[in-house]
Formats: sequence, C-alpha cells, structure tokens
Amino acid sequence: MSVARCSEVARTFGQGSHAVVAVHGCNCEVAAGARIAITGTSGSGKSTLLHLLAGLETPTSGAVTWPELGQTPADRRRDIAVVFQGPSLLPALDVLENTAMAAVLTGTDEADATERALVALTAVGVPGLVNQLPETLSGGQAQRVAVARALTLRPRLLLADEPTGQLDEVNGSRVIDVLIHAADELGAALVVSTHDPVVADRLAEQWQMRDGRLLVPVPGGAA
Ligand code: ADP
Ligand code: MG
Repeated sequence: MSVARCSEVARTFGQGSHAVVAVHGCNCEVAAGARIAITGTSGSGKSTLLHLLAGLETPTSGAVTWPELGQTPADRRRDIAVVFQGPSLLPALDVLENTAMAAVLTGTDEADATERALVALTAVGVPGLVNQLPETLSGGQAQRVAVARALTLRPRLLLADEPTGQLDEVNGSRVIDVLIHAADELGAALVVSTHDPVVADRLAEQWQMRDGRLLVPVPGGAA
C-alpha cells in the first residue's frame, strides 16, 4: 500500500513560449513507512514534485492520489506535514506558538496543541527555546523548530524540501537524524529533497530528478 502515488503527473508553469515544464511523465509511489531522497541539481523539479506529493500543487495533467491517507483535503492536512525550504517561522510568534500553530490550524484544541509542541520541541532537541522569537535562533535551531511544527500534526507522510540547504554539515546531519527518528516514532513515510549526496545516502531509496523527469528509482545507500 502507498501513502502517495503519482500517475503520469505533469506540472507546467507559465504559458506559451514562456512555459516551463517543471515535472513531466512522473509515475511514482511512496510506500507507507518509506525513506526516500529526491536528488537532482537545482531546477530539476525536486520542489515541484515534493509539493505535488504534498497536495500543495495541482498537476497540470495526470493525478496524485493518497490511497492510505484521508480522502478529503481537510483530513489530508493532518496526515501530510511539510518542512519548507528556507525560513518559515512567523516572526511575531515565539517558538512554542510557532510550533503549536500547525496543529491548532488543523483543528487540535490549543491546550493539546501546546502539549504536542512541547513534546515535539523536546524530540528535536531544543526544549529550552520555547519563549524565544525566531530572529534569535540560529539556522539549525530554526530548522529544528520547523521540524517540530511538522511533527505536531503526527503525520503519516513527512516531506522536507532541502531541509539542510542552509546548514553546515554537522547541523545538517543532525536535522536529518531528527527527521529519520521522528518518522520512525510516527511510523510515517519520509521524503527529503536534497542536492547533497551525503544527505541522500542517509535514506534507503534514492529518486533522481533530471530536467523535470524522475529517472527510474534506484535503491540507494545506507538506510
Ligand atoms: P528544484 O527544487 O529541483 O530546484 P523546482 O521544482 O523548484 O526545482 O523548479 C523546476 C523548474 O520549474 C525550474 O525551471 C523553475 O524555475 C520552475 N518553477 C518552479 N516553480 C515555479 C513557479 N512557481 N513559477 C514559474 N516557474 C517555476
Ligand atoms: Mg527546490
């Protein structure tokens, strides 16, 4: 069974002579509990494929389905969590509020969301940051908070777009540790886009994108 499936999926941006085909002819399946790296150079379509798998982008043609997840968009918002590329915390909210927000927005009551946020911040190794504002955090700390925010949803599918892109090797490696550990705890599938082969080697499967095409997935390095 799979948590997400692409059937002949294409996504084009722009029109006419300005059209860019970001993803084309994509057929793929994310199995429950999978550990997948989407690799490829900048502009190869990694973010677009990740956003399609998240349901944040609509295919121009073909279909994305989520056979094992909630069948309404509202249910899927709880089942699928995304860690975005670059800073994504709201500057006016402290770390605890930022972390609890995703759960609150998907219908968890505030006390429960705050409890989940505290657990998640401990799980990602930054329980001491709760009252700090995002501007006071290092890049590695901010990315851990973004991971914690995703975990408060208790997702079945966890997607992270270049989560180590802004980090040095040590902090990048720690963020990958956190993502893998969290996915293990939740029993969730994990899909990480990266242009870094060292990061990709941490995931069991590697899917390579080239010029908008997903090359035949090949089994990758150490799980
Ligand atoms: P990657 O994440 O591998 O760098 P992307 O999926 O971001 O690749 O982009 C793939 C291609 O689609 C690139 O040529 C990019 O410029 C284009 N693209 C992505 N998003 C948009 C958008 N919102 N509008 C126009 N072009 C886009
Ligand atoms: Mg990208």
